[in-house]
Amino acid sequence: AIRIEGLNKWYGEFHVLKNIDLQVAKGERIVICGPSGSGKSTLIRCINRLEQHQQGRIVVNGVELTDNLKNIDTIRSDVGMVFQHFNLFPHLSVLDNCTLAPIWVKKQPRAQAEATARRFLERVRIGEQAHKYPGQLSGGQQQRVAIARALCMNPSIMLFDEPTSALDPEMVKEVLDTMIDLAREGMTMLCVTHEMGFARAVADRVIFMDAGEIVEQNTPEAFFGNPQSERGRQFLSQIL
Ligand code: ATP
Ligand code: MG
Repeated sequence: AIRIEGLNKWYGEFHVLKNIDLQVAKGERIVICGPSGSGKSTLIRCINRLEQHQQGRIVVNGVELTDNLKNIDTIRSDVGMVFQHFNLFPHLSVLDNCTLAPIWVKKQPRAQAEATARRFLERVRIGEQAHKYPGQLSGGQQQRVAIARALCMNPSIMLFDEPTSALDPEMVKEVLDTMIDLAREGMTMLCVTHEMGFARAVADRVIFMDAGEIVEQNTPEAFFGNPQSERGRQFLSQIL
């Protein structure tokens, strides 16, 4: 579970996150949307401490993220992240991408890490490509590897930052289907995405951000059907 209270963050003078309050229960699925530059990526990057905040509290599974956090690796293992541009290691095979962190961070024996990796690669339907390098896969396949790689750390929370926005249209569905499977299995998920079909299929809540603030949060039906704020209405008229 995640508890964010009074979160504020600045980049120099620029106030990027303003008084964010957000609670995410175990098993909840949240979609975050909003215009470019509204702070969506910054917010989710704060949750696994890829970014640091200056004010307020972020508590992840009972551990507060602070400057003197003892074990950042524990948080990073527990909070998986999938990026827009996959961020796979190009010089490592698909299998080695998936086993690197389990072996080096979690100190798993290689055989165990490989068995786990093969299981997750099967699950995202990349099983036969385990020996290939990322450059030999399509964008959709690479993104599914990135999802499998995150799952190999056995996270309790998964963060997605526009995982389909760099993909060709015909590859979007295979990645969304993988994410829908994960959601149906009960994974706690925060997804920055403008994929409305995905939001309607799995999101418990849609969070709409603008200019560093959470402007509204509602069920997907309510938000997409009848946004409460003028800014929400304007945003939807642009993406529809
Ligand atoms: P997009 O939809 O384009 O991905 P976003 O909602 O994810 O946008 P962020 O990437 O969180 O937006 O950025 C929020 C604001 O903070 C933007 O104005 C951006 O220019 C600024 N920003 C982001 N990262 C930094 C940084 N490292 N240093 C300074 N400013 C930054
Ligand atoms: Mg972003």
